[in-house]
Amino acid sequence: MSDCIFCKIVRKEIPAQIVYEDDVVVAFKDINPAAPTHILIIPREHISSIAAAEASHQAILGQLLLASQKVTAALGIEPDKHRLVINTGADAGQTVFHLHVHLLAGRNLGWPPG
Ligand code: AMP
Repeated sequence: MSDCIFCKIVRKEIPAQIVYEDDVVVAFKDINPAAPTHILIIPREHISSIAAAEASHQAILGQLLLASQKVTAALGIEPDKHRLVINTGADAGQTVFHLHVHLLAGRNLGWPPG
């Protein structure tokens, strides 16, 4: 989508601190970090939310989650000390409507989240 901010990051039309990318996903630092490490992992393909994903996206969704391993390895984060979050819908806190996985690490993460 031409006006989607994350699509613009995928196309390198606006800057982002990319920490990992491959043919399917891009991972970059969140501009307003909620933890010492806060990375967003997104599919290159525009999917507005996990609620809008279709069966045809199954492989992309798998690679999106598995990319978290690439990100933790790239950043030197212990692989079992982070949280993945997918906000889905405005009422659940989604503000950018291009599917993204938040990867949070580097502090104690309370439960339940706010
Ligand atoms: P969510 O509220 O789950 O939709 O998360 C959207 C996230 O995108 C927020 O944590 C924002 O800080 C982050 N964000 C918005 N614009 C940018 C940007 N240009 N570069 C990096 N992160 C961004």
